[in-house]
Amino acid sequence: MTPEDERFLRRAIELAAAATTGGDAPYGSLLVGPDGTVLAEEHNTVLSDRDIAAHPELKLARWAARELDPATAAATTMYTSCQPCTMCYGGIQRSGLGRVVFALSTEQADALTPGAGWPVVPQEGPALFDEARVPVTGFYG
Ligand SMILES: [Zn+2]
Repeated sequence: MTPEDERFLRRAIELAAAATTGGDAPYGSLLVGPDGTVLAEEHNTVLSDRDIAAHPELKLARWAARELDPATAAATTMYTSCQPCTMCYGGIQRSGLGRVVFALSTEQADALTPGAGWPVVPQEGPALFDEARVPVTGFYG
């Protein structure tokens, strides 16, 4: 963690604080390109957009996948006020972004928000392998 990393993390924390002025949850993130330029900034808009996926990390991952070439994405860092949740991390993995730097860990954030957290949703499967594999193998050859 460099002093420059800390400077960009402080900006993520500012964005998190700004989210609350609009009634949204306090999370903020930004993307910094290979040359140290801020490429994009976002904050949580889950409540104002009525969108469960409107986390800043996922919005920025989707932006990066759309707007950046693979080499630029790989050399771009996401700075975020809290460690990305599992939903956002999945998007980050698919975005091509090369690095994430976070302020609060998931454990630290959970300790600050007692009673928060997500339920475990049962999943059932696998099933119908011979039928379900047909469109997959048809697509990937
Ligand atoms: Zn998230």
